[in-house]
Amino acid sequence: MTEHETDYEVVIGMETHIELDTASKMFCACSAQCFGAEPNTHVCPVCLGMPGALPVINRRAVEYAMMVGLALNCQIARFTFWERKSYWYPDLPKGYQISQYQYPLCYDGWIDVDVRDVASGTWQEHAERRRIRIRRAHLEEDTGKLTHIGNFSYVDYNRSGVPLLEIVTEPDLRSANEAYAYLSALQQIVRYLGVGTADMEKGAMRCEPNMSLRPKGSHELGVKVEIKNLNSLRAVRDAIAYEIERQTRILRSGGSIQQVTLGWDEARGVTYIQREKESAHDYRYFPEPDLPPLQVDEAWLAEVRARVPELALARQDRYRRDFGLSAYDAVVLTADRAVADWFEAVVAALPNGPGRAKAAANWVQSELFRVMKSRGIPNSAVHTLPVKPAQLAELIMMVERGVINHHTAKHVFEAMCDSGADPQCIVEERGLAQVSDAAALRDVVEAVVAAHPQQVQQVLAGQEKVFGFLVGQAMKATRGKGNAQMIHALLREAIERQRA
Ligand SMILES: [Zn+2]
Repeated sequence: MTEHETDYEVVIGMETHIELDTASKMFCACSAQCFGAEPNTHVCPVCLGMPGALPVINRRAVEYAMMVGLALNCQIARFTFWERKSYWYPDLPKGYQISQYQYPLCYDGWIDVDVRDVASGTWQEHAERRRIRIRRAHLEEDTGKLTHIGNFSYVDYNRSGVPLLEIVTEPDLRSANEAYAYLSALQQIVRYLGVGTADMEKGAMRCEPNMSLRPKGSHELGVKVEIKNLNSLRAVRDAIAYEIERQTRILRSGGSIQQVTLGWDEARGVTYIQREKESAHDYRYFPEPDLPPLQVDEAWLAEVRARVPELALARQDRYRRDFGLSAYDAVVLTADRAVADWFEAVVAALPNGPGRAKAAANWVQSELFRVMKSRGIPNSAVHTLPVKPAQLAELIMMVERGVINHHTAKHVFEAMCDSGADPQCIVEERGLAQVSDAAALRDVVEAVVAAHPQQVQQVLAGQEKVFGFLVGQAMKATRGKGNAQMIHALLREAIERQRA
């Protein structure tokens, strides 16, 4: 860096829209489950904006919004009202959107996120924990959807009126990785709460970062750009990283940044100008006369608060602290709430003792995930498998007690996943109990030693790998049921006796 160059810092704020997964829409009885449905089949006079049609508040949507707000450590307004945000666009049949402006339902919150350098592609055990402040989260209704084909534009109002939660951060994000970490955490929270899919590819979660660069140490904000058209978390990260580089280059060469709205061209990996600076919109907000104000009393708030489960980050900390698991294990096990619940049920069914959580973690991450993947079952649907957590705990104990060896246990687990039968039944039925009869194992080992004189000499010459081969031969002779520890010890003795 020459003396004319300055080091820059990026300041990012994030605005995110999340569709709430309610049965009906925000202000009418139409089904809100309309992704992929025939266009304009989930509509009624209310969501089509017909004159005289009256909206009714969806209580469940308000509760879902409060749950997200509580998970984001927000204050919940005890009194808010609805406002009309007026603008004209063909996807908005009423000419206004019912929203909240002056008093958002949720405000003044924060969320802690663990930031790792995901772009590097290598897992880091250490993460930097950052606190991102949430300015507000308010409820509104989604708009319809326009599709442009050739010279024609088509409109589908199925989405019109679907409950939408807008979440706005303070400008606290300082890198593309932080933006990525924040959005991943937000997406995970929505899924943990079960209030939405937050699926970016399907438009159920949409985010618009705004960002500016300023000389490091400066407290003034630089010229702000907004980025739109981001269809995945990776796109958000890549677009921000691209813009930081582009703007730094311009500023270092003495140029200035234009205040614009940018789009992201995923295929080319570049941003492009969507709109030049526009004069500030005058949305003419005014109270919605067709809806009563929204009042949240303490009893209702307490009821909703009780529905907020322990979230992923808190669980990760607990797994590391109480179970002694690595950060990696904790992150993997808490990625889906269903898996985390399942894993914890296994641990709870195991007797107290060191290493029990690690054993459960290993089984979940290796065998359980392998079975689900091979059967095309998503992790979030782990409860659809016939096998129950307590049964895996029993299987783990059977290995520990020496009833079966680890190799056999994997096959037993596979069978448990098919039938849901208890491991004891499967082991008895198939005669899989471990062979720990010393006399029987000694015969097997002697036979192996006699059949492989050359390999025995190699082991005596220090080639330990060959010892593994001989163990394998003995295990094969017991059809996989031999007690591995005993085979090891007996084989060692037998080989030593061959020392000339
Ligand atoms: Zn409707």
